[in-house]
Amino acid sequence: MKRNPQTTQQQLFQIHVHPTTEDISIPYLRKARERKEMKILTLNFLTCARKTCKSNAAAFPLHPKDAELEQVETELNPLFLRNILPRLDWEAMKTLTNELGLPNLPAEIPSEDELATPTPTATVSEGEGGIESEPSRTAKDLHTLLMETSIQSGLLVCGNCGHEYAVKEGIANFLLPSHLV
Ligand SMILES: [Zn+2]
Repeated sequence: MKRNPQTTQQQLFQIHVHPTTEDISIPYLRKARERKEMKILTLNFLTCARKTCKSNAAAFPLHPKDAELEQVETELNPLFLRNILPRLDWEAMKTLTNELGLPNLPAEIPSEDELATPTPTATVSEGEGGIESEPSRTAKDLHTLLMETSIQSGLLVCGNCGHEYAVKEGIANFLLPSHLV
């Protein structure tokens, strides 16, 4: 059996790279890793680790099974939310939330306008009665779903080969038995 002691779990993740995701810095995901949370958003970037599944459309997204969910409140970052939405595979995210029994996502990716509710500011006395905006209900719901909800334990199943990856304490194990690598 070939074993490389240098191999870390991180290297074994297969990152599902959409054309526009290469240059994105994802501080939220980094933080999630530190806190051992597999956020729903993370599932947008994961696909089966088996070579034969790499280019197979059925291997993405991985399907949650017997998932135990956890919700941890985090601060909503409107800019991050706005930037990440176009980088998501929306159909995959809809499938995932549906499979997890979470509230349905909108049919289409919400537009920038739908993410903010304009609020007249109270700065009229200063002669600058401008319009500011705050996150809309849609933005808050998306934040809760994508950023605050995570899979604490359960399985992630490949739709192509059927392999089941275990998630324990918020960490998915993508190590494959040697005969499957
Ligand atoms: Zn697979």
